Amino acid sequence: MTSLSHRRETPTVRIGHVPVGGRQPVVVQSMTNTDTADVKGTAEQVADLARAGSEIVRITVNTLQAAEAVPEIVRRLDMMSCDVPLVGDFHYNGHQLLTAVPECARLLAKYRINPGNVGFGRKRDEQFATIVRLAIEHDKPVRIGVNWGSLDQKLLAALMDENARGDEPLEAHEVMREALIRSAVDSAAQAEELGLGHDRIILSCKVSDVQDLIAVYRSLARRCDYPLHLGLTEAGMGSKGIVSSTAALAVLLQEGIGDTIRISLTPAPGQPRTDEVVVAQELLQSMGLRAFSPMVTACPGCGRTTSTFFQSLASDVQDFVRRRMPEWRTRFDGVENLTLAVMGCVVNGPGESRHANIGISLPGTGEAPVAPVFVDGEKQATLRGENLTGEFLDMIEKYVADHYPSHTESVADG
Ligand code: SF4
Repeated sequence: MTSLSHRRETPTVRIGHVPVGGRQPVVVQSMTNTDTADVKGTAEQVADLARAGSEIVRITVNTLQAAEAVPEIVRRLDMMSCDVPLVGDFHYNGHQLLTAVPECARLLAKYRINPGNVGFGRKRDEQFATIVRLAIEHDKPVRIGVNWGSLDQKLLAALMDENARGDEPLEAHEVMREALIRSAVDSAAQAEELGLGHDRIILSCKVSDVQDLIAVYRSLARRCDYPLHLGLTEAGMGSKGIVSSTAALAVLLQEGIGDTIRISLTPAPGQPRTDEVVVAQELLQSMGLRAFSPMVTACPGCGRTTSTFFQSLASDVQDFVRRRMPEWRTRFDGVENLTLAVMGCVVNGPGESRHANIGISLPGTGEAPVAPVFVDGEKQATLRGENLTGEFLDMIEKYVADHYPSHTESVADG
């Protein structure tokens, strides 16, 4: 894994049993899109997201019914042996809901407050203070999560006026960036004045433009030492959402900025919500920051690839790993570091295969119909014929059993 020595220093904030910040590994989180009052649907989606690897899951708490549903959601998760910390997302009426349903306040692991959506006028400060006091009373951390779509308009107007009076006025979007940061930092200071611990606060400032996000977080990271939650809001669907989020988050993570991330994908109809978790994990793993699952390297294929068999094999290997990983993870230490390669011909095939723990190089156009398999850099087998896929998967299974110590053995060995 890549050294994390350049990570920004922050306090460690505990979200349930999950530590965030303090140079702990970057945490993956996600959010449900069910109606929280739908206990069954929400509990199932939370469990799905957790099984996919989401280490924290946020749920909307927007009505009394949603707040009252939280204890039953937690009970159902307990029955599924799912202990993922649940975060409540509050807007406008969080002070009322957390007061009215103390069990909701007690069972949530963190409260997310959007300073732009707490309330209006004088009530804003009162309602913000109520939520913070409830967080103190229930010993919960908060995320002060600013979003440019719901930026505190009073603060923005004041900064715009101040800017207009200055000798060298900034562009409007630069004032907007400053307003986002000031909203987060000032609200955090306000929360601390109310008695919330410095190590009970996480900040986020989400925008939907890649360059704005990078600029805002760089500045935020210089101006405070709270752990930061990264996410490009409204990233969009499909490849657009993935590429935009990755472009922004990768730059920041590379600079040591970011303690927890979410990829805010809009799912296409029928697309699983869990895809946002897979993308977040793949981002961290491809940057070498964390390992979640064996990596399958595959060449893109080209005119030398003989048939679609190459694509099928790459896909079969990826599916096999995803299918086996839940069991492997519980049995074999370090299996997430396994590397696999599926290559389409001899041009780059053997070279890339030698770099993987197990790599196979299929025959390209005009090459002998055999597929050499390399294990830790050494050619160990030559596969051919219609059982090739099954034999290659068997070799992967055997490699895992032979090379990663099983938990049972570790315990027995003392
Ligand atoms: S390894 Fe062979 S088949 Fe794959 S992209 Fe390179 S040349 Fe094409």
